[in-house]
Formats: sequence, C-alpha cells, structure tokens
Amino acid sequence: MPSITRRKSVNVNIGGVIVGSDAPVVVQSMTNTDTADVESSIQQIAALARAGSEMVRVTVNNDEAAKAVPAIVAGIAAKGWNTPIIGDFHYNGHLLLRKYPECARALAKYRINPGNVSIGRKDDDNFRTMIEVAVEHQKPVRIGVNWGSLDQALLTRMMDENSRSSEPKAARDVMMEAMVVSALDNASAAERYGLRRDQIILSAKVSGVRDLIDVYTELARRCDYALHLGLTEAGMGMKGVVASTAGLSPLLLAGIGDTIRVSLTPTPGGDRSEEVRCGQQILQSLGIRSFMPQVTSCPGCGRTTSTYFQELAERIQGYLVESMPEWKQQYPGVEELKLAVMGCIVNGPGESKHANIGISLPGTFEDPKAPVYVDGKLLRTLKGDRIVEEFQVILDEYVHERYGNGFTGLPKATAETPNTVHADDVQDSIAPEAKPVEPPVFSVLP
Ligand code: SF4
Repeated sequence: MPSITRRKSVNVNIGGVIVGSDAPVVVQSMTNTDTADVESSIQQIAALARAGSEMVRVTVNNDEAAKAVPAIVAGIAAKGWNTPIIGDFHYNGHLLLRKYPECARALAKYRINPGNVSIGRKDDDNFRTMIEVAVEHQKPVRIGVNWGSLDQALLTRMMDENSRSSEPKAARDVMMEAMVVSALDNASAAERYGLRRDQIILSAKVSGVRDLIDVYTELARRCDYALHLGLTEAGMGMKGVVASTAGLSPLLLAGIGDTIRVSLTPTPGGDRSEEVRCGQQILQSLGIRSFMPQVTSCPGCGRTTSTYFQELAERIQGYLVESMPEWKQQYPGVEELKLAVMGCIVNGPGESKHANIGISLPGTFEDPKAPVYVDGKLLRTLKGDRIVEEFQVILDEYVHERYGNGFTGLPKATAETPNTVHADDVQDSIAPEAKPVEPPVFSVLP
C-alpha cells in the first residue's frame, strides 16, 4: 500500500493520548447521554471505549453536568478504562469551569466553540477565562469552529469588507475564509493568554463535503496546529457514512487530520458505537491504521439464489465485532487478518487464496461443498449444515495459532516516530524477533 505523508503538526498530549503528526490518527466519539446521569454516561463511555474510541467527549452544559464529570471520570477509571474524557462547552463554559474546579481538573481537554463563547460581547473575556482555566490546570483545548455557530460579528465584518472589494468573492468562499480566520485568530489569542502551541487543536466543521475539504485544506496550509477532522451533522445511516467517508478520505489521503470523529445520527435506541466503527473503517480502508480483521465478500448475483452466503458473511462480521475487544488484548496483530467469504466458484477460490482464510460457498447448481483456504492453500472442504460453525472453529484456531505468540502490537507515539504513518509502518514496528518467520502450525487438519 503506498504510504501517506502526514502534514507536519504539533503533537498534543491529551490525557496520555498523543494527537499530532508523530502519532497515528486518533478515533474519537461523543456521548449522547445526559451528562448529569452519571451511570448512563459511564455505561456509554465504556461501550464507546470498548468499540475502540480512544477519547470520548461529553457535553458540559449546566451545573449538574459539571458536578457529574469527576464521578464519570472516576467511574470510567474504576472500570479499567483510561480513556481521556473531553468536556464540550458552549455559552457558559467560562462560568462552569470557574465554578467547578474539580470538573476542570478531571477533564483531559476542553472544547471551546469560539462562535458562542462571547455572544453579545465586544470583548473576549469569556474566551480568555476558559483559556486561563486551561493554563491553570495545564489542559489542552480544542478550538472548534462550526459553521452553524460561526462568530457572527466576524462573518458580518468579512462580508462587508468583501462587498466593498473591487472583486468580491462568492458568499460561500467568504464563509469558508471566516471559519479559517476564526480558528486561527482564536488560536493566536489562546497563545497570547498563556496556552502553549502543543496544547491547541483546531477544527472547522461544516456539513457539506466539498466545503469540508476546502476549509481544512486551507486551514492545514496556514498553520501547523494539530487538526480534528469531522463532517458536522453528517446525518443518519448510509447518508452519514457515505458523506463522512467522502469528506474525510481526500483529506486523510493528503495527510491532513490528526484525529477524527464521525458524527452519525443514531437511529432511536441505536448503537452509538457505530460512529466509532465507521471512523475506524475509514482509516483502515485507506490503509492508514488497522483496527479489525477485514472481510471481503462478494455482492452475490444470479449464481447464488440463496441468501446463505450473505448470512455467513454477516455472521462472521458479527463474530469479529464481538470477539475483537478480547482478541485485541490476547492476540496483538489480529487486526491485520483478512477473510474472504465468496458466493461461488467463479471468484471464490481466487479471492479466498488472497486472504488469510477464505471460504468459497457453493453457487446454484454447484456441488454442495465449501472449500476453505488458509494462507493460500486448500485446508479442507466443508459440507453439510454446520458450515458456519466449522468455519468459526477454523477461524478461532487460526487466530490462536498465528497471533497468540507474542506480537507487540501498535507502536506508542514518540517524538522520533517518522512523519509518515501507514500500515507497513505498523507491521515494521513489530519487534522482528516477535514476528512469525515460518507459517504458523495449524492444528485443524482435514
Ligand atoms: S463470486 Fe460468484 S456469486 Fe459472487 S458475485 Fe461473483 S459470480 Fe456472483
């Protein structure tokens, strides 16, 4: 896989997680529980962390939420997670952070929206107060501009200046420029008020894919602050997934973006962790990081009139999602595993041979047999009505044999790590002596 050269950015330490160009791109998410409901918030943060969210943001919107934060942070730690918890502040952050110092201390980072922190004021005292609290507690800050709450005074001024220009720009371009200016001006102010450069992350979220690409490309060009990427209000289901992928991918491929969040609207009662898996899948599909074994499955066609292979692909995918939290601990490197579930003999054996484990199911009018390939070689042919269960046993055995022997896993970010991160780097970072030199002994024999 060709490497991606990351844009050089300043590394920021957020409660032990490094965000910056010397570290892998970090996946984060945000709760949608009432933060004041400590138990529900802990449960959801733990679920997000279990899905792989490396940082979790909670809204801190009132006294009750601010009072709940220390208990949430302690509760998460008691469950064995060291996931940094970030506080999301709007309108009253300056009041809450001063009134509840234990909340300010417990959080690993503050997110400030400059568009709503000083509404109706001519000065930036509220913003300054929040930065002073961050300096006092030595916490990093994300200055998160959002086009839905862009600083209206700044936008009006820039629109007026544009209208007086001899060659006025389109209103959309002025809006994009205002977002970049808002982020950069506030970052400069934060530095003037005492925050270090390595304590600042910027974001400039919009809900249009083309706007996102343009605004981040410009922001990346004009500064070296670490950048948080995300399409705001991406939407629900397929629309949200596709729009986020379309927006984030060109930027990530250009090396822009140090942490990402996919802002999916969950279905009522839906699983919040979907946004974590989506972010991971974007990074893995681009060859930037590996999180999860990948299943290649064919779309099916008239050669497979039954839904059997679709069910097998779905069950295997579900099994991987369920198993990964434990596998990650027990079998470092397992996220590189590749599986193939193919519907018939046309591409089945060929595709299966390119995977670590592949199964080619019988198409219509083919013999009711399913050859299983392991590391490119035919291992055995499954028959009968227990193909799924037998395939799962083969999978378990393979994972145990191949990854249960001392891989060291992903590298910890250091200042010396090169400014390029790609899947091969991850593989290369595995201690040579820990890599399996010979093909693994496979104990399930035909
Ligand atoms: S592998 Fe077979 S079933 Fe799947 S799409 Fe190709 S021809 Fe159709």
